[in-house]
This record gives sequence, C-alpha cells and structure tokens, in this order.
Amino acid sequence: MYLAELMARPQSEKGKILIVDDQPLNIKILHQLFNEEYELFMATNGEQAIAICQKVQPDLVLLDIEMPGMSGFDVCQHLKADPETASIGVIFVTAHFDEVQEVKGFQLGAVDFIHKPINPIITTARVKNQFTLKRQSDLLHSIALLDSLTGVANRRQFEQRLPELWKHCCRNQLALSVVMLDVDFFKRFNDRYGHQEGDQCLRQVAKAISDSLRRGIDFVARYGGEEFICILPETPLSGAMNMAKNIVNAVQALHLEHVDSSFKEVTISAGVSSVIPRQDLTWQSLIETADQQLYLAKERGRNQIASLSL
Ligand SMILES: [Mg+2]
Repeated sequence: MYLAELMARPQSEKGKILIVDDQPLNIKILHQLFNEEYELFMATNGEQAIAICQKVQPDLVLLDIEMPGMSGFDVCQHLKADPETASIGVIFVTAHFDEVQEVKGFQLGAVDFIHKPINPIITTARVKNQFTLKRQSDLLHSIALLDSLTGVANRRQFEQRLPELWKHCCRNQLALSVVMLDVDFFKRFNDRYGHQEGDQCLRQVAKAISDSLRRGIDFVARYGGEEFICILPETPLSGAMNMAKNIVNAVQALHLEHVDSSFKEVTISAGVSSVIPRQDLTWQSLIETADQQLYLAKERGRNQIASLSL
C-alpha cells in the first residue's frame, strides 16, 4: 500500500464505537451524541459486548461498569486477555465518582472514564481524543514498516514476514519462493541523471513490481538501495519464474531512458529460489540462493532471470 493511500484512509472511514449499558435510556443518549459521526453498535450485557467485539472489532467501547451479571470490569478484563480484542480502547461509563474504582479501571487497561449523567461536550471530547490517538498510533505503526521512498514494505517488515511464511509453508509442506531483484546499471543511472531522477526511477520500478503481484499473499519489499525482494508463498519454482518474467517485462515496459545501459532503458535482473521448507534448512538459505541466482543473471548479461530449487 502506498503512503498517500494510507494517509487518506483514516479520514474516509467511519470509526466504530460499541455502546454497552444495561439501561436502554443511557444507550439512547450516547447514540444521539455519536450517531452521525461514527458507526455504532449496541449491547445491553457483558456477553453480548464481548461477542460484538470479536465480530466487528470496534475502535472504542463505551462500557457501563454497573450491569447485572458480568460487570464492565469483567468485560474489560476479558477483552484485554484476548489478543484479538486487546487493542480495542475501553472508556468506562459510571454513575459513581469513586477514586478506588477509577484506579481499578485504569489498571484493567481502560483509556478513560466518563461520568453519568452524560455531559455531551465532555463525552464527545473524550471520545474524539481517543480516536485521534488511535489513528496516530495506527499510522505510526504502518509507517514504521514502510519504505519512505517507494511506499512498499521495508526490510524490517520483510524480516518479520519471511519467517512467518516459512513456518506456515513448513507446517503445511507447501512450496515457498522468493524473487530477488536488482535494477541494472543503477549507479550509472544516478551518475548520468542525478539522484532525484534516481529516486523517481526507483518509485516507478517499485510500482511496476507491486502491480505485477496479483495475489494478496504475495509480498514485495525494498531490500536495500536498488534491490527489491518478493515473497511468493504456496508457489513452486515454475510459478515464481513466471512471476519474475512478468516483473522483468513490466520494468522494461516502463521505457525509462537510460543511455548508459546496454539496453538504452531501465531494466531489472531477477534471482529466483524455491523450496518446500524443512527443519534442516533456514529461511536465510532461501535468500542466499536467490542472491546467488541474481548474481548469475547479472553475469549472463542482465535484464534476465536465473533460478534454482533448494
Ligand atoms: Mg448500569
């Protein structure tokens, strides 16, 4: 996903709030306050609240403490103990101002308290603050895993992803492939056209690569300098070679002028490796093999593919 899309997304989507209260009148008051700006869900007891959280993953829960059966504290504890729902923000709503109770609420992981009777201005401000914080933290988290120049995943994200996919393919005995890519004669390109043009070239190449990946599980990262790497899970060598060919063709089809290249335009070389992961191999060996194949493709004249199964 590109940075611009990512930045645009939070404004275009409505935040989700779950309102939990055993008194329908209280739900009604909160509903009137937030109905326009947010997507709302309602529950009148703890069990219902937990089920809705698991199903729709709201951003925020406005949670009544005093309810028959499961109390708000019980619900919060339950949500925080489950990794699937732990990051949902909880604001407690209570009719009693009690310091001991507030301390307990914060210790359980609540982000704020609201007191009944509901004051519309205070309540709206508290909810808005939580949404701002959550969006900023979501955005920071995403940015930390993206390459700032090209908007594709960065090496850090790659190094998290590959071991996960390695385990997945090992467990299910499925083929896993990687494609290592390197822009040909890129130093000459920078020397001739300057670094600004070099950056622009890398952005276009990154887009050509990511546009070539069709499946949601395929993954591309900027590996360093002018190097990119794709992970293709559940893909044998033949499929990975087809993908590499598509990428090599897509980059040449950009027709970016490069007078100091033997091809007179920007091209890319690819090293492909593939394996059905086993215990006696490491994911690093898959990258090493792809890297060696990339070297071979370069040796053989660039703008081509070399491949090997482990
Ligand atoms: Mg109540």
